[in-house]
Amino acid sequence: MKILILGSGGREHALAWKIAQSPLVDEVFSAPGNPGMDKIGPCFDLDPTDLHAVQELALQITPDLIIIGPEAPLAAGASDALRARGFDVFGPSQQAAQLESSKGFAKDLMQKYGVPTAAYGRFSDLTEALDYLETVDGPYVIKADGLASGKGVVIVESQEEAENTVEEFMTGKFGEASAEIVIEEFMTGEEASIFVMTDGEGAIYLPAAQDHKRVGDGDVGPNTGGMGAYAPAPVVDARIMELVQTLIVEPMLSGMAEDGMPYQGVLYVGIMVTESGPKVVEFNARFGDPECQALMAGLPGDIVPALLVCSTGGLVGSHASLCEMMGLSDFTPSATVVMAAEGYPDKPVKGTTIKGVDAADAIENVTVFHAGTDINEKNEMIATGGRVLGVTATGESLKAAIDKAYEGVAAIDWPGGFFRKDIGHRALK
Ligand code: AMP
Repeated sequence: MKILILGSGGREHALAWKIAQSPLVDEVFSAPGNPGMDKIGPCFDLDPTDLHAVQELALQITPDLIIIGPEAPLAAGASDALRARGFDVFGPSQQAAQLESSKGFAKDLMQKYGVPTAAYGRFSDLTEALDYLETVDGPYVIKADGLASGKGVVIVESQEEAENTVEEFMTGKFGEASAEIVIEEFMTGEEASIFVMTDGEGAIYLPAAQDHKRVGDGDVGPNTGGMGAYAPAPVVDARIMELVQTLIVEPMLSGMAEDGMPYQGVLYVGIMVTESGPKVVEFNARFGDPECQALMAGLPGDIVPALLVCSTGGLVGSHASLCEMMGLSDFTPSATVVMAAEGYPDKPVKGTTIKGVDAADAIENVTVFHAGTDINEKNEMIATGGRVLGVTATGESLKAAIDKAYEGVAAIDWPGGFFRKDIGHRALK
C-alpha cells in the first residue's frame, strides 16, 4: 500500500513513523512533511489547504489511503475534494469538521443531542453579547467561533475584562474567526483528551491522554499548542470512559449520521472531569499534537487496518479484530516532552542550531518527532518554528516512560531551546 499524509508537524511525523512500520505499507508520502518525515519517505512541498494542489498530488501518487493531519485542510474541505476524486480519506468532511472550525456549531449540536457541556450563549451581535454578560457570573469563558491557532479562548474573572474581551474579539481581533463568539459557563475539574477513531458508526477508543497547555512548569504562563503529553491518563478511569462513550461519543456519532453529516476520522474529545461527571470542553477534528506522538509510540500493533476501515466503513463488524491488530489492550505507557524555541509562544527565535537528535533517537525506546526543524546549507539542523521537537518515550510504567523521555531530552544539545520539566506531574502525584 501507498499512504499519503498531509501536514508537517510532530503529529504527522508520529503518524508516518507508526504507519511505516505496518507490513501492509510499502511507501509513505508526506506533503509538505518535515526533515523527520523525509527520512521515512518522499516529501512534496505544497500547501495542504490548496485543494487543487492536493488533488493533483494525489492523482500523481495514487495512494491507497490519504490521512489529513491538521485542522486547516479539513476546514478547507480537503477530504471532500479528495473523496470526490475517488480516494479513501481518513478525516472528516468539511461539514463534519465544523465540530472544530465553529465552536458555536459544536455547542449547538451538543445541545441538540443532549451531550453534557458548559452552558453557553452564541453571539454575532455585540450588544446582545454584552447584555448576556450582565446575566451570568464569572469567571467568564469567551471563545472565538472560528479557528484562531489555539489563541481564541480567553478566561477572565471580572465582568469588565469580559466586556473588553468580547469587544476586542467581535471587532476584529481574529478577523472573521472572532466576528462570532461563544460565551461559556466556567467548568472546574481536571482535563483529559480522548481520541475516538470512527467510520461514522463504530468507534475505537484510544487510551485517554493528557497534554500540558501552559508554557511553564506548574501550569503557569500563556497557553501554547501543548508542551508535552502522556498516556494513559489515570484521571479517566473505566467509569469515566464509559460515561464519555454513552453520554458524549455515541450520541454525537449517531446524531451526526442521522443529520446527514456522518463523522469519519478521529474525533478528539476534550473533556473536563467535573464533580458531576465528564463534560465536553471542545471537540477537535483531528489527532491532538503532542498527544498523537505519545499515542503512536505506545501502540504496540498495526494501526493501518483501523485507519483504512474508518475511511471506508465497516468498523462495527471488524471492531474486535482491529483493536487486536492495534494491540490496544497492550498499550505501553508513553510520554512526549516538547522542546520549544526560546521566546515561544509569543516570539520564538528561529534559526538556532540543534545537535544530538540522532543520539537521542538512538536511546532504546526513545523517538524524536520533528515539528519545526530544517537542515541548513551547512547540513546542520536548525529550529524553524515554535514547538520544534517532541521527544517521546515508552516505559513499563508512566514514570519510566517520562524518565526515559527526559533522558532523550538530555541527549539533545540545543542552547536556543527550552522544555517543561514536569510533564506528567498530575499522573505521578
Ligand atoms: P478550547 O480551545 O475550547 O479547548 O479551550 C482552551 C482551554 O481553555 C481548555 O483546554 C481549557 O483549559 C480552557 N477552557 C475552555 N473552556 C472552558 C470552560 N468552559 N471552563 C473552564 N475552562 C475552559
